[in-house]
Amino acid sequence: MSLRDEAEMLAQKLIEYRRFVHMHPEPGFEEFETSKYIQERLKELGLSPKVVAKTGVVAEIVGERGDSKTILLRADIDALPVTEANDVPYKSRNEGFSHACGHDGHVAALLGAAELLLKHKSEFKGKVLLVFQPAEEGPGGAKPMIEEGVIGSPDAPEIDAALALHVTAELEKGLIGITDGLLTASADEFYVTIKGKGGHGSAPHNAVDPIFIAGNVIVGIQGFLTRTVDPVDHVVFTWGKVVGGERQNVISETCRLEGTLRTHSREVRQKLHQTIPEFIKQVAKTYGGDAVVELVTGYDVGINDKRVNDSVRKAVSKLYSPNNIIDTGAIMGAEDFFEFSLGGKIPVAMFWLFAGNKEKGFIHGNHSNHFDFDEEALPMGAAILAEAAIDFLNSDD
Ligand SMILES: [Zn+2]
Ligand SMILES: [Zn+2]
Repeated sequence: MSLRDEAEMLAQKLIEYRRFVHMHPEPGFEEFETSKYIQERLKELGLSPKVVAKTGVVAEIVGERGDSKTILLRADIDALPVTEANDVPYKSRNEGFSHACGHDGHVAALLGAAELLLKHKSEFKGKVLLVFQPAEEGPGGAKPMIEEGVIGSPDAPEIDAALALHVTAELEKGLIGITDGLLTASADEFYVTIKGKGGHGSAPHNAVDPIFIAGNVIVGIQGFLTRTVDPVDHVVFTWGKVVGGERQNVISETCRLEGTLRTHSREVRQKLHQTIPEFIKQVAKTYGGDAVVELVTGYDVGINDKRVNDSVRKAVSKLYSPNNIIDTGAIMGAEDFFEFSLGGKIPVAMFWLFAGNKEKGFIHGNHSNHFDFDEEALPMGAAILAEAAIDFLNSDD
């Protein structure tokens, strides 16, 4: 029997795992029930899970063919503060939260991969490090797990690669998206307070209008970026929150803006960390005001390693068909999975497990309150994770 058939035999179990996690969505670092559930499942498989970074879980599977490399397989486990709009039997029971990014599917697929790897441990050398990571949606759980010694510290296991999948309903079930090189963007947060001088709406010349300044900053930054960044370098800046003013005829003291900066280039990112605050302050000064700009740096750009991807390609081709693989290119979304590369030192890769189904209505994007996916894709995810890990560990390059 192939790993594919064995994974299909686990289908009901994986759906059960996914539905339990789906019904109990929890935000970052509060995934206590999810974490407990994962630990119980791992113990059932005969593994010895350890808790790291509050709600993270790690466990090790050792191949019986001797020492070799170690590969880390990662699933993120957190949910989003999104109220689920779908009326399904497995609907979220935690009002205001849901697994709108499919991380429930990641948990199920990795548990499935663990079971497959255990069954086949006589067929591979080296080790698999299972990592169930909290808080991907923020503030980031990969870094705290690394800081607590999952990898990268003197007594932590040395890893040679890391692999993860991400569920999305953007394309139909059966397809696997693999992209070499750049996959995800860096993501930084800007918090801006425009300072003006309060006054009467009829006498702007006696005041400094922070809302007018904010308007110029909001519009101006788009032109600023297109005129100062090489057009071949992808950059996007979105203001997601604007708060200012008291009433229609009052010029207020301040206006607050919050925005996100995404880039595909570490150099461009570094430059913009300097020039965006300067630009905002300059605009404020032009109209007699001032600006305080707070920058919170977030996730780094995500770069997929071709060698790790090749193991995924081989796994898909062997268990399914090369026709199931598509190259989907880079996105401006961000992922903290790439923290496991320790700044690019360790080859890592993330592939897309497409799980859309137009007939069943699984057509919504990740983070939508209507997001859902075809659970029948879960065995495919589990099988590919397991097969790619075995391929990587058994190969000598
Ligand atoms: Zn997400
Ligand atoms: Zn996600």
